[in-house]
Amino acid sequence: QDDQFKKVISHAKEYGYVFPSSEIYDGLSAVYDYGQNGVELKKNIREYWWKAMVQMHENIVGIDAAIFMHPTTWKASGHVDAFNDPLIDNKDSKKRYRADVLVEDYVAKLEGKIDKEIQKASKRFGDAFDKEQFVSTNPRVLQYKEKGDAILKRLGKSLENEDLADVKALIEELEIACPESGSKNWTDVKQFNLMFGTKLGASADSAMDLYLRPETAQGIFVNFLNVQKTGRMKIPFGIAQTGKAFRNEIVARQFIFRMREFEQMEMQYFIKPGTQKEWYDYWKETRLKWHNSLGMGEENYRFHDHEKLAHYADAACDIEFKFPFGFKELEGIHSRTDFDLANHEKYSGKKLQYFDPEENKSYVPYVLETSIGLDRMFLAVLSNSLQDEELENGTTRTVLKIPAVLAPTKAAILPLVKKDGLPEVARKIADDLKWDFNVDYDEKDAVGRRYRRQDAAGTPFCITVDHETLENNTVTIRHRDTMEQKRVQIEELREIIKQEVDM
Ligand code: ATP
Repeated sequence: QDDQFKKVISHAKEYGYVFPSSEIYDGLSAVYDYGQNGVELKKNIREYWWKAMVQMHENIVGIDAAIFMHPTTWKASGHVDAFNDPLIDNKDSKKRYRADVLVEDYVAKLEGKIDKEIQKASKRFGDAFDKEQFVSTNPRVLQYKEKGDAILKRLGKSLENEDLADVKALIEELEIACPESGSKNWTDVKQFNLMFGTKLGASADSAMDLYLRPETAQGIFVNFLNVQKTGRMKIPFGIAQTGKAFRNEIVARQFIFRMREFEQMEMQYFIKPGTQKEWYDYWKETRLKWHNSLGMGEENYRFHDHEKLAHYADAACDIEFKFPFGFKELEGIHSRTDFDLANHEKYSGKKLQYFDPEENKSYVPYVLETSIGLDRMFLAVLSNSLQDEELENGTTRTVLKIPAVLAPTKAAILPLVKKDGLPEVARKIADDLKWDFNVDYDEKDAVGRRYRRQDAAGTPFCITVDHETLENNTVTIRHRDTMEQKRVQIEELREIIKQEVDM
């Protein structure tokens, strides 16, 4: 699993997807840059989300709020007082950890043990193996599950009650129970605020303390009435936004899974108080469908209901994805009640209410939120797509099976040889297709190597121009995933590609 993750990271770099930030200065931890392919994949994921959320919903509109916001925003939102991570230091190694992540890592180890039991049993039973039944009846698996659940429950309770001493005690107990990790010398658990501070204005006395926004959501809340009034929106309606957010994360060892500067895609759905349960279920289902529409394997997603609710929520769950390091949060769905709007009313002194013509009264709407990290989604796509395949002739190929709708380059146009007029015809095809798709023209090296290069970069189609093209205007089109080649008319290309890559 670790190996697979390392492969993903090095592949991302080798193929222009993700680079460490300011690498010539040895990088900056938990900050990354997107390269020539990465920027396209990221753009396509953003567009795929925007289309599903804004374009396809008559009652959802978008905004683009500023990263800087009035500092009182973060008082009202609770971030100044409650946006903390519990930290613990190891006195021997002088390393700093997130206490909750340490505990979760331990539970992940238990889950790893469950996976091993499943693998063993499936080998033993062969075709007769029934995974569902095994997982729900095998005593050892049940024991691991029960233990993991109990640990997380206790963690949730302690954090909720701010019983940091118990979090420390839990860590120490787990260390003893898990000898391979070795007993460590811990400090007490302390809370640490994750917001980055900065200053607005030049002179020292007039400068104003600001924060870089730790989430995009508040830009939506403070604009709630602007959008509702100017867009004549009727409840229920949604406001969507994508943009950068900043958190001074402590655990910085999971590539683009946890970054200090990252991008969120958030949607706040404003509803009538009392209907939150119904909308919570609706958005859970709708968001899972969106994920499944990409065809990355339904078994790779699961819901995780929160034991510990954030200060603003009355119900919350995550959609978790099976990353190379196990199931982890990809998206959050939160029933935020009127927490945010009511607090902004309180701190700003401005009314943030909706007049409901059906009820003939005004009220502060409740909010249902869907919040997904664009970079995390990127990592989900990349890690799920990267495969080493054994071919029939005994060789292997590395292929990036990115869903075609998200692929950075949709087709590569390849002249079989660099002579006889083939490059000219290939260029012409590329020049024609580029009006509709991102395409690549490549004439270097033998065609087999070019196919491999495009496979590894994630390009779903290779179009090869050969001598027969000159006679009858046909080319071969090769599919990345099946490696099947078909001869088609040049005029058909646009339609064939469209069918697979259109969102
Ligand atoms: P985590 O528990 O992993 O820190 P969170 O519960 O704090 O995440 P939210 O505040 O709910 O996350 O943010 C919504 C989404 O934003 C998350 O589901 C995740 O996809 C993304 N996200 C949050 N923090 C980061 C980060 N540091 N780097 C990349 N993506 C992030």
